[in-house]
Amino acid sequence: AAKELGKSRWVEYGPELDAHAVEHAQIAAELSQALDRDELFVLYQPIVGLPDGDVRGVEALIRWRHPTRGLVSPVTFIPVAERTGLIVPIGAWILRQACTQGAQWASSLGDRAPWKISVNASARQLLEPAFVGVVADTLADTGLDPARLTIEITETAVFGGGRALDTVRALHALGVKIALDDFGTGHSSLGLLRTCPVDVLKVDKSFVDGVTGTVEQEAIATSISEIAQALRLEAVAEGVETAEQASRLLELGYRLAQGFYFARPLPAAEIAPLCTPEPSLTSPA
Ligand code: C2E
Ligand code: MG
Ligand code: MG
Ligand code: MG
Repeated sequence: AAKELGKSRWVEYGPELDAHAVEHAQIAAELSQALDRDELFVLYQPIVGLPDGDVRGVEALIRWRHPTRGLVSPVTFIPVAERTGLIVPIGAWILRQACTQGAQWASSLGDRAPWKISVNASARQLLEPAFVGVVADTLADTGLDPARLTIEITETAVFGGGRALDTVRALHALGVKIALDDFGTGHSSLGLLRTCPVDVLKVDKSFVDGVTGTVEQEAIATSISEIAQALRLEAVAEGVETAEQASRLLELGYRLAQGFYFARPLPAAEIAPLCTPEPSLTSPA
């Protein structure tokens, strides 16, 4: 009976697993053409000041408009891009898009431009010896001030040192800012702050969710804010969805936040209007 059960399980799940592998291979093949076919595009999510809500920066987030699958989430295709190495050309592409856009905002909006442009870099990109040169060339070509570019990395990518850590140090030496993304969820949160140059902690959404929840959860968000202040790092609260979370985060010492409560990731054209100061009450109609 056990054998029969095993067999029926195989029959039941086997084809599904195959279908999954085929789907994965198909996504990989299609992704390799997505860049050439103009199917990839970038959205920008504001990072705002607390409590004013002013746009201080934006995070570039990649999207894939697939001809038949529709909008594919980066949560699905970025891991595929990492495994196949496609993240290297895709990452270079989004970096150039974001720096070009950042330089354009700087010249068209002046003081009102989002001061910082954040771009995610995956572990695979940090292992690529050419990456530092790609960043340096992109900054030179687009004219974006290096201090206005933030590269977001994860703790896990640089945990263990090696080439990834060397890359991050070289990026920092270019004048680029380094943010630790999803802070608190990785391998080595605190030790890393001694070895890796870091300017910004992006506090993971799971802790932000907790600030209006249990005392224990809130204690973590509080501690991260205190560490950031003590080490003179910026702390950005990620994934803020409610007014209650925003006001609690302010009480806990957060001065920067990002989340659907303030703005979703938006096309570049929708960012500029958000940067326009509120019309003054005394200005002529
Ligand atoms: P991430 O870098 O931590 O980006 C933040 C994610 O949280 C984004 O998801 C954003 O849309 C989402 N988010 C922001 N505010 C809220 C909120 O209030 N509630 C909720 N539920 N979610 C919120 P997205 O755009 O789907 O990206 C997911 C992940 O994919 C990113 O997480 C990043 O790890 C990766 N990714 C996206 N674009 C790129 C890229 O250009 N390069 C690389 N290497 N990874 C990327
Ligand atoms: Mg990020
Ligand atoms: Mg994040
Ligand atoms: Mg995240």
